[in-house]
Amino acid sequence: MSMPLLSVENLRIEFPTRRGTLVAVDDVSFTIEEGEVLGVVGESGAGKTLIGMSIIGLLDPPGRIAGGVITLEGKRIDSLPHEQMRRIRGKKIGTIFQDPLTSLNPLYSIGRQLVETIATHTDLSTTKARKRAIDLLKEVGIPSRRVDDYPHQFSGGMRQRVVIALALCANPRLVIADEPTTALDVSIQAQIISLLKQACHEHNAAVMLITHDMGVIAETADRVAVLYAGRLVEIGPVRDIIKNPNHPYTRGLMGSIPTIGTHVKRLAQIEGSMPRLAEIPAGCAFHLRCPEAFDKCEHARPDLHPVNESQTACWLYEAEPPCHG
Ligand code: SF4
Repeated sequence: MSMPLLSVENLRIEFPTRRGTLVAVDDVSFTIEEGEVLGVVGESGAGKTLIGMSIIGLLDPPGRIAGGVITLEGKRIDSLPHEQMRRIRGKKIGTIFQDPLTSLNPLYSIGRQLVETIATHTDLSTTKARKRAIDLLKEVGIPSRRVDDYPHQFSGGMRQRVVIALALCANPRLVIADEPTTALDVSIQAQIISLLKQACHEHNAAVMLITHDMGVIAETADRVAVLYAGRLVEIGPVRDIIKNPNHPYTRGLMGSIPTIGTHVKRLAQIEGSMPRLAEIPAGCAFHLRCPEAFDKCEHARPDLHPVNESQTACWLYEAEPPCHG
């Protein structure tokens, strides 16, 4: 079997507090293959963004990686010095965040920002870098005459197009897109998602698409990883999970799958909300909301096991009860 492009193994992210250590991401493992789109879905606070930030080495203190290994193209990247990680960001991993203004410098034209990024990560001369910048802008639907315009002269959707061009300008192997359309007008969200998918496909970049919106996942991803309270509860091919979600939480998410671009604040079929970090219950973290919970769920945590084409962490699919608490 070939080596995955990205591998996250047993990742644990902690936040030390005066009252003790809070575990925000607990024993999460997954891979992303070359050119694949992995959707990472879950409610706000499930740990999706923390995982993305850990991969690019930008986890904000006091959050810290307390365990696990992250490799990119077989090389460990979770413990690299700052400067090496900075080079990997941009060159090997492109990033797209929710608000395009956080990725753009308001003082520089978009052309200058693209040219500087291209020059930093490639051997191209300034003239060639400018030509490449213009080509990239055209690719994302921005006419060349706008290359010297400033971020404030663009709409939110156009700015996100510029950010997609910026993320791809060094031909990264992986693009991490964190809620790339949440801040945009609903009417253009589908356009931006389809542009992101197409542009990454053309550059042969894999995508880790972080979102709370199962509709976006359904339209875009090859596989989906479902997170709940910092734990991976289900992972598998999107087609199978959409047709046949195994985990009761995923079923709840599927019940809230309206159309792409719709903001879903609560799960349509599941009562209550995700527990805060300090209040994650023992056993299955979902048991207080799960319509199918039974005794064992309260005191023992289920691990991921193969169920159909997916891996699911739920006692409903376990033959043997656990012997540990
Ligand atoms: Fe529900 Fe129990 Fe499965 Fe958790 S382990 S999802 S509580 S049935």
